[in-house]
Amino acid sequence: MIASTPSTATPAATPVALAPITDLSLTSLRQVVTELGHPEYRGDQIAAWVYRSPVGSFDEMSNLPKSLRQALADRFRFGALALEAEFVSSDGETRKAALRLVDGDLIESVLMRYPTRDDGTGAERSTVCVSTQVGCPVKCAFCATGLMGFTRNLGTGEIMDQALHFLRWSRAVPPTVRNVVFMGMGEPLINYDATMGAVALLVDAVGLGVHRLTVSTAGWLPGMSRLIEDKYAVRLAVSLHSPDDALRTTLVPLNKRFPLATLLEACWEYQARTGRRVTFEYTLLDGVNDTPALARDLVALVRRHDVHINLIPMNPVAYLPFGASRPEAVEEFHRIVREAGVICTVRREMGRDIRAACGQLRTELQGREPVRASTVTA
Ligand code: SF4
Repeated sequence: MIASTPSTATPAATPVALAPITDLSLTSLRQVVTELGHPEYRGDQIAAWVYRSPVGSFDEMSNLPKSLRQALADRFRFGALALEAEFVSSDGETRKAALRLVDGDLIESVLMRYPTRDDGTGAERSTVCVSTQVGCPVKCAFCATGLMGFTRNLGTGEIMDQALHFLRWSRAVPPTVRNVVFMGMGEPLINYDATMGAVALLVDAVGLGVHRLTVSTAGWLPGMSRLIEDKYAVRLAVSLHSPDDALRTTLVPLNKRFPLATLLEACWEYQARTGRRVTFEYTLLDGVNDTPALARDLVALVRRHDVHINLIPMNPVAYLPFGASRPEAVEEFHRIVREAGVICTVRREMGRDIRAACGQLRTELQGREPVRASTVTA
Protein backbone atom coordinates (compact mmCIF):
# COMPACT_ATOMS: atom_id res chain seq x y z
CA MET A 1 0.00 0.00 0.00
CA ILE A 2 1.21 3.48 -0.81
CA ALA A 3 0.18 6.38 1.38
CA SER A 4 0.92 10.02 0.77
CA THR A 5 1.47 11.58 4.20
CA PRO A 6 2.69 15.17 4.16
CA SER A 7 4.50 15.83 7.44
CA THR A 8 3.82 18.81 9.64
CA ALA A 9 7.45 18.79 10.79
CA THR A 10 8.83 20.29 7.58
CA PRO A 11 8.85 24.08 7.76
CA ALA A 12 6.85 26.04 5.23
CA ALA A 13 8.58 27.85 2.39
CA THR A 14 10.11 31.27 3.19
CA PRO A 15 11.50 33.97 0.89
CA VAL A 16 13.96 32.74 -1.74
CA ALA A 17 16.61 35.33 -1.01
CA LEU A 18 17.44 33.98 2.44
CA ALA A 19 20.00 31.20 2.92
CA PRO A 20 18.99 28.32 5.21
CA ILE A 21 20.50 28.47 8.70
CA THR A 22 21.69 24.88 8.07
CA ASP A 23 24.11 26.20 5.46
CA LEU A 24 26.29 27.49 8.31
CA SER A 25 29.00 25.48 10.00
CA LEU A 26 29.04 25.66 13.79
CA THR A 27 31.99 28.05 13.58
CA SER A 28 30.13 30.33 11.16
CA LEU A 29 27.02 30.21 13.33
CA ARG A 30 28.96 31.40 16.39
CA GLN A 31 30.59 34.09 14.28
CA VAL A 32 27.22 35.34 12.97
CA VAL A 33 25.89 35.53 16.50
CA THR A 34 28.84 37.61 17.72
CA GLU A 35 28.52 39.90 14.69
CA LEU A 36 24.92 40.43 15.76
CA GLY A 37 26.21 41.60 19.17
CA HIS A 38 25.47 38.46 21.20
CA PRO A 39 27.83 36.13 23.10
CA GLU A 40 29.27 33.17 21.20
CA TYR A 41 27.46 30.57 23.32
CA ARG A 42 24.19 31.70 21.75
CA GLY A 43 25.41 29.98 18.57
CA ASP A 44 25.49 26.66 20.40
CA GLN A 45 22.03 27.29 21.80
CA ILE A 46 20.74 27.91 18.27
CA ALA A 47 22.43 24.72 17.04
CA ALA A 48 20.76 22.74 19.83
CA TRP A 49 17.36 24.03 18.73
CA VAL A 50 17.96 23.43 15.02
CA TYR A 51 19.64 20.03 15.23
CA ARG A 52 18.34 18.40 18.40
CA SER A 53 14.81 19.67 18.93
CA PRO A 54 11.52 19.50 17.05
CA VAL A 55 11.01 23.28 16.71
CA GLY A 56 10.14 24.63 13.28
CA SER A 57 10.92 28.35 13.61
CA PHE A 58 13.34 30.81 15.20
CA ASP A 59 10.50 32.25 17.25
CA GLU A 60 10.18 28.99 19.20
CA MET A 61 13.77 29.22 20.51
CA SER A 62 12.57 30.29 23.93
CA ASN A 63 15.95 30.74 25.63
CA LEU A 64 17.14 33.31 23.07
CA PRO A 65 16.54 37.05 23.39
CA LYS A 66 13.67 38.20 21.18
CA SER A 67 16.02 40.58 19.35
CA LEU A 68 18.27 37.67 18.33
CA ARG A 69 15.33 35.55 17.19
CA GLN A 70 14.15 38.42 15.03
CA ALA A 71 17.65 39.07 13.65
CA LEU A 72 17.94 35.39 12.66
CA ALA A 73 14.52 35.41 10.99
CA ASP A 74 15.53 38.54 9.04
CA ARG A 75 18.70 36.87 7.74
CA PHE A 76 18.00 33.14 7.38
CA ARG A 77 15.38 30.62 6.35
CA PHE A 78 14.68 28.06 9.06
CA GLY A 79 14.29 25.27 6.48
CA ALA A 80 15.67 24.77 2.98
CA LEU A 81 13.01 22.34 1.78
CA ALA A 82 9.24 21.94 1.59
CA LEU A 83 7.66 18.50 1.62
CA GLU A 84 5.94 17.76 -1.68
CA ALA A 85 4.84 14.19 -0.93
CA GLU A 86 5.79 11.27 1.24
CA PHE A 87 5.20 7.62 0.45
CA VAL A 88 5.29 4.64 2.77
CA SER A 89 6.02 1.11 1.56
CA SER A 90 3.41 -1.57 2.18
CA ASP A 91 5.57 -3.16 4.91
CA GLY A 92 6.00 0.25 6.61
CA GLU A 93 9.80 -0.07 6.63
CA THR A 94 10.60 2.45 3.90
CA ARG A 95 9.46 6.07 3.65
CA LYS A 96 10.37 8.14 0.64
CA ALA A 97 10.07 11.92 0.63
CA ALA A 98 9.92 14.15 -2.43
CA LEU A 99 11.22 17.50 -1.22
CA ARG A 100 10.86 20.78 -3.08
CA LEU A 101 13.79 23.19 -3.26
CA VAL A 102 13.28 26.96 -3.18
CA ASP A 103 14.02 27.15 -6.92
CA GLY A 104 11.16 24.71 -7.56
CA ASP A 105 13.05 21.51 -8.38
CA LEU A 106 12.48 18.22 -6.58
CA ILE A 107 14.88 15.92 -4.76
CA GLU A 108 14.37 12.58 -3.03
CA SER A 109 15.34 11.22 0.37
CA VAL A 110 14.59 7.82 1.83
CA LEU A 111 14.22 6.51 5.38
CA MET A 112 14.87 2.80 5.80
CA ARG A 113 13.91 1.12 9.06
CA TYR A 114 15.46 -2.23 9.83
CA PRO A 115 13.62 -4.28 12.46
CA THR A 116 15.25 -6.90 14.66
CA ARG A 117 15.60 -10.11 12.64
CA ASP A 118 13.14 -12.99 13.08
CA ASP A 119 15.76 -14.96 15.04
CA GLY A 120 16.05 -12.05 17.49
CA THR A 121 19.50 -10.89 16.34
CA GLY A 122 20.42 -7.43 15.12
CA ALA A 123 19.23 -4.14 16.53
CA GLU A 124 16.34 -2.07 15.30
CA ARG A 125 17.80 0.86 13.41
CA SER A 126 16.92 3.66 11.03
CA THR A 127 19.04 4.96 8.17
CA VAL A 128 18.45 8.03 6.02
CA CYS A 129 19.67 8.16 2.42
CA VAL A 130 20.19 11.75 1.22
CA SER A 131 20.74 13.33 -2.20
CA THR A 132 23.67 15.65 -2.89
CA GLN A 133 22.83 16.93 -6.38
CA VAL A 134 19.75 17.66 -8.48
CA GLY A 135 20.15 14.94 -11.08
CA CYS A 136 23.64 13.56 -11.65
CA PRO A 137 26.38 14.21 -14.21
CA VAL A 138 27.90 10.71 -13.92
CA LYS A 139 25.13 9.09 -15.98
CA CYS A 140 25.43 5.45 -14.95
CA ALA A 141 23.68 3.34 -17.55
CA PHE A 142 21.30 1.60 -15.13
CA CYS A 143 20.29 4.57 -12.98
CA ALA A 144 17.09 6.64 -13.15
CA THR A 145 18.91 9.69 -11.78
CA GLY A 146 21.61 9.33 -14.42
CA LEU A 147 18.90 9.47 -17.06
CA MET A 148 17.57 12.84 -15.93
CA GLY A 149 20.84 14.72 -16.46
CA PHE A 150 22.41 17.24 -14.10
CA THR A 151 20.86 20.49 -12.89
CA ARG A 152 22.97 21.69 -9.95
CA ASN A 153 24.77 20.87 -6.73
CA LEU A 154 22.84 21.02 -3.48
CA GLY A 155 24.03 23.29 -0.68
CA THR A 156 24.99 22.02 2.77
CA GLY A 157 21.64 23.18 4.17
CA GLU A 158 19.71 21.39 1.44
CA ILE A 159 21.54 18.15 2.24
CA MET A 160 21.25 18.60 6.02
CA ASP A 161 17.56 19.36 5.90
CA GLN A 162 16.87 16.02 4.21
CA ALA A 163 18.47 14.24 7.16
CA LEU A 164 16.69 16.54 9.63
CA HIS A 165 13.32 15.84 8.03
CA PHE A 166 13.58 12.16 8.95
CA LEU A 167 15.58 12.70 12.15
CA ARG A 168 12.78 14.82 13.59
CA TRP A 169 10.13 12.35 12.51
CA SER A 170 12.02 9.34 13.88
CA ARG A 171 12.55 10.96 17.30
CA ALA A 172 8.78 10.76 17.70
CA VAL A 173 8.56 7.31 16.06
CA PRO A 174 11.69 5.31 17.09
CA PRO A 175 14.11 3.86 16.23
CA THR A 176 15.71 7.28 15.90
CA VAL A 177 17.94 7.82 12.89
CA ARG A 178 21.54 6.92 13.76
CA ASN A 179 22.94 6.35 10.25
CA VAL A 180 23.09 8.62 7.23
CA VAL A 181 24.22 7.44 3.81
CA PHE A 182 25.07 9.88 1.04
CA MET A 183 23.78 7.58 -1.71
CA GLY A 184 20.73 9.35 -3.11
CA MET A 185 20.61 11.44 -6.26
CA GLY A 186 24.03 12.71 -7.33
CA GLU A 187 27.74 12.02 -6.91
CA PRO A 188 28.64 13.31 -3.42
CA LEU A 189 32.36 13.70 -4.07
CA ILE A 190 31.78 16.04 -7.03
CA ASN A 191 29.88 18.24 -4.55
CA TYR A 192 32.60 17.78 -1.94
CA ASP A 193 32.38 20.91 0.19
CA ALA A 194 28.61 20.81 0.66
CA THR A 195 28.66 17.07 1.35
CA MET A 196 31.41 17.30 3.93
CA GLY A 197 29.78 20.39 5.42
CA ALA A 198 26.75 18.20 6.12
CA VAL A 199 29.01 15.47 7.52
CA ALA A 200 30.56 17.99 9.93
CA LEU A 201 27.13 19.15 11.14
CA LEU A 202 25.86 15.60 11.56
CA VAL A 203 28.86 14.78 13.75
CA ASP A 204 29.37 18.05 15.63
CA ALA A 205 25.83 19.45 15.88
CA VAL A 206 23.55 16.38 15.70
CA GLY A 207 25.98 14.12 17.57
CA LEU A 208 26.12 11.12 15.22
CA GLY A 209 29.29 9.03 15.19
CA VAL A 210 31.37 9.59 12.06
CA HIS A 211 31.48 5.80 11.65
CA ARG A 212 27.70 5.95 11.13
CA LEU A 213 28.03 8.16 8.05
CA THR A 214 28.70 6.60 4.65
CA VAL A 215 29.73 8.54 1.58
CA SER A 216 29.21 6.75 -1.70
CA THR A 217 31.12 7.45 -4.88
CA ALA A 218 31.16 6.14 -8.42
CA GLY A 219 34.90 6.86 -8.40
CA TRP A 220 35.42 10.62 -8.58
CA LEU A 221 39.16 10.59 -7.87
CA PRO A 222 39.64 14.31 -7.14
CA GLY A 223 37.09 13.95 -4.34
CA MET A 224 38.65 10.72 -3.08
CA SER A 225 42.03 12.46 -2.84
CA ARG A 226 40.45 15.11 -0.63
CA LEU A 227 38.62 12.51 1.43
CA ILE A 228 41.88 10.73 2.17
CA GLU A 229 43.12 13.93 3.83
CA ASP A 230 39.82 14.88 5.51
CA LYS A 231 39.53 14.92 9.30
CA TYR A 232 36.10 13.23 9.10
CA ALA A 233 36.88 9.57 8.44
CA VAL A 234 33.49 8.53 7.09
CA ARG A 235 32.73 5.07 5.79
CA LEU A 236 33.46 4.81 2.08
CA ALA A 237 31.19 2.96 -0.34
CA VAL A 238 32.33 2.63 -3.93
CA SER A 239 29.91 1.79 -6.74
CA LEU A 240 31.92 -0.88 -8.56
CA HIS A 241 29.41 -2.89 -10.61
CA SER A 242 32.11 -4.71 -12.61
CA PRO A 243 35.68 -5.98 -12.13
CA ASP A 244 36.31 -5.46 -15.85
CA ASP A 245 37.35 -2.03 -17.14
CA ALA A 246 35.60 -2.27 -20.51
CA LEU A 247 32.32 -3.44 -19.01
CA ARG A 248 32.54 -0.94 -16.15
CA THR A 249 33.01 1.91 -18.61
CA THR A 250 29.75 0.98 -20.30
CA LEU A 251 27.96 0.93 -16.93
CA VAL A 252 29.75 3.83 -15.19
CA PRO A 253 31.13 6.20 -17.87
CA LEU A 254 33.37 7.86 -15.26
CA ASN A 255 35.50 4.71 -15.44
CA LYS A 256 36.94 5.91 -18.74
CA ARG A 257 38.57 8.82 -16.93
CA PHE A 258 39.39 7.01 -13.69
CA PRO A 259 39.80 3.29 -14.46
CA LEU A 260 39.69 0.49 -11.93
CA ALA A 261 43.40 0.39 -11.11
CA THR A 262 43.51 4.05 -10.06
CA LEU A 263 40.17 3.81 -8.29
CA LEU A 264 41.24 0.79 -6.25
CA GLU A 265 44.59 2.38 -5.43
CA ALA A 266 42.70 5.32 -3.91
CA CYS A 267 40.46 2.92 -1.99
CA TRP A 268 43.43 1.12 -0.45
CA GLU A 269 45.03 4.46 0.42
CA TYR A 270 41.83 5.53 2.19
CA GLN A 271 41.77 2.25 4.04
CA ALA A 272 45.40 2.59 5.11
CA ARG A 273 44.73 6.12 6.31
CA THR A 274 41.50 5.46 8.20
CA GLY A 275 41.54 1.75 9.06
CA ARG A 276 38.01 1.53 7.67
CA ARG A 277 36.64 -1.44 5.74
CA VAL A 278 35.70 -0.34 2.21
CA THR A 279 32.29 -1.31 0.88
CA PHE A 280 31.86 -2.07 -2.82
CA GLU A 281 28.35 -1.76 -4.16
CA TYR A 282 27.63 -4.17 -7.00
CA THR A 283 24.27 -3.89 -8.74
CA LEU A 284 23.48 -7.22 -10.37
CA LEU A 285 22.12 -6.81 -13.90
CA ASP A 286 20.64 -9.84 -15.61
CA GLY A 287 23.07 -11.31 -18.13
CA VAL A 288 25.37 -8.28 -17.97
CA ASN A 289 27.61 -8.44 -14.89
CA ASP A 290 26.27 -11.41 -12.93
CA THR A 291 28.29 -14.32 -14.36
CA PRO A 292 30.41 -16.70 -12.24
CA ALA A 293 33.52 -15.62 -14.19
CA LEU A 294 32.98 -12.00 -13.17
CA ALA A 295 32.41 -13.07 -9.56
CA ARG A 296 35.83 -14.77 -9.62
CA ASP A 297 37.44 -11.70 -11.23
CA LEU A 298 35.90 -9.54 -8.52
CA VAL A 299 37.36 -11.76 -5.82
CA ALA A 300 40.80 -11.54 -7.45
CA LEU A 301 40.66 -7.73 -7.34
CA VAL A 302 39.77 -7.33 -3.67
CA ARG A 303 40.62 -10.48 -1.73
CA ARG A 304 43.81 -9.16 -0.14
CA HIS A 305 41.98 -6.22 1.43
CA ASP A 306 39.40 -5.64 4.15
CA VAL A 307 36.28 -5.15 2.06
CA HIS A 308 32.58 -5.78 2.08
CA ILE A 309 30.85 -6.60 -1.18
CA ASN A 310 27.22 -5.52 -1.16
CA LEU A 311 25.28 -7.19 -3.94
CA ILE A 312 22.24 -5.16 -4.95
CA PRO A 313 19.43 -6.78 -6.90
CA MET A 314 18.55 -4.33 -9.70
CA ASN A 315 15.41 -2.31 -9.03
CA PRO A 316 13.92 -2.23 -12.57
CA VAL A 317 13.44 1.27 -13.98
CA ALA A 318 11.19 2.23 -16.87
CA TYR A 319 13.14 3.46 -19.96
CA LEU A 320 16.20 1.36 -19.03
CA PRO A 321 17.19 -1.86 -20.83
CA PHE A 322 18.30 -3.74 -17.70
CA GLY A 323 16.54 -6.38 -15.68
CA ALA A 324 17.09 -7.90 -12.25
CA SER A 325 19.34 -10.95 -12.14
CA ARG A 326 17.65 -14.29 -11.73
CA PRO A 327 17.63 -15.50 -8.07
CA GLU A 328 19.87 -18.48 -9.01
CA ALA A 329 22.44 -16.11 -10.56
CA VAL A 330 22.41 -13.91 -7.44
CA GLU A 331 22.88 -16.94 -5.20
CA GLU A 332 25.73 -18.33 -7.33
CA PHE A 333 27.53 -14.96 -7.47
CA HIS A 334 27.09 -14.59 -3.71
CA ARG A 335 28.37 -18.12 -3.06
CA ILE A 336 31.51 -17.68 -5.15
CA VAL A 337 32.50 -14.44 -3.44
CA ARG A 338 31.65 -15.64 0.05
CA GLU A 339 33.43 -18.99 -0.32
CA ALA A 340 36.56 -17.14 -1.43
CA GLY A 341 36.61 -15.61 2.06
CA VAL A 342 35.36 -12.14 1.10
CA ILE A 343 32.58 -10.60 3.22
CA CYS A 344 29.59 -10.46 0.93
CA THR A 345 25.91 -9.73 1.51
CA VAL A 346 22.86 -9.38 -0.69
CA ARG A 347 20.99 -6.15 0.02
CA ARG A 348 17.42 -6.65 1.10
CA GLU A 349 15.00 -5.18 -1.38
CA MET A 350 13.20 -2.29 0.25
CA GLY A 351 10.45 0.00 -0.98
CA ARG A 352 10.03 -1.40 -4.46
CA ASP A 353 6.32 -0.48 -4.31
CA ILE A 354 7.20 3.20 -3.73
CA ARG A 355 9.85 3.52 -6.45
CA ALA A 356 12.70 3.59 -3.91
CA ALA A 357 15.49 3.36 -6.49
CA CYS A 358 17.01 6.81 -6.65
CA GLY A 359 15.51 9.14 -9.23
CA GLN A 360 12.38 7.09 -9.96
CA LEU A 361 9.97 9.07 -7.80
CA ARG A 362 11.21 12.48 -8.93
CA THR A 363 10.88 11.48 -12.56
CA GLU A 364 7.28 10.44 -12.00
CA LEU A 365 6.34 13.50 -9.95
CA GLN A 366 7.94 15.83 -12.48
CA GLY A 367 5.71 14.15 -15.06
CA ARG A 368 8.29 14.08 -17.79
CA GLU A 369 10.42 11.51 -19.53
CA PRO A 370 14.08 11.58 -18.55
CA VAL A 371 16.67 13.15 -20.81
CA ARG A 372 20.38 12.67 -21.24
CA ALA A 373 22.23 15.88 -20.44
CA SER A 374 25.72 16.97 -19.34
CA THR A 375 27.95 14.05 -18.38
CA VAL A 376 31.23 13.77 -16.49
CA THR A 377 33.45 11.33 -18.32
CA ALA A 378 36.61 13.00 -19.50
S1 SF4 B 1 24.27 5.58 -9.73
FE1 SF4 B 1 24.87 7.38 -8.51
S2 SF4 B 1 26.66 8.21 -9.62
FE2 SF4 B 1 25.61 6.85 -11.06
S3 SF4 B 1 24.20 8.19 -12.21
FE3 SF4 B 1 23.04 7.32 -10.46
S4 SF4 B 1 23.22 8.87 -8.86
FE4 SF4 B 1 24.84 9.30 -10.37
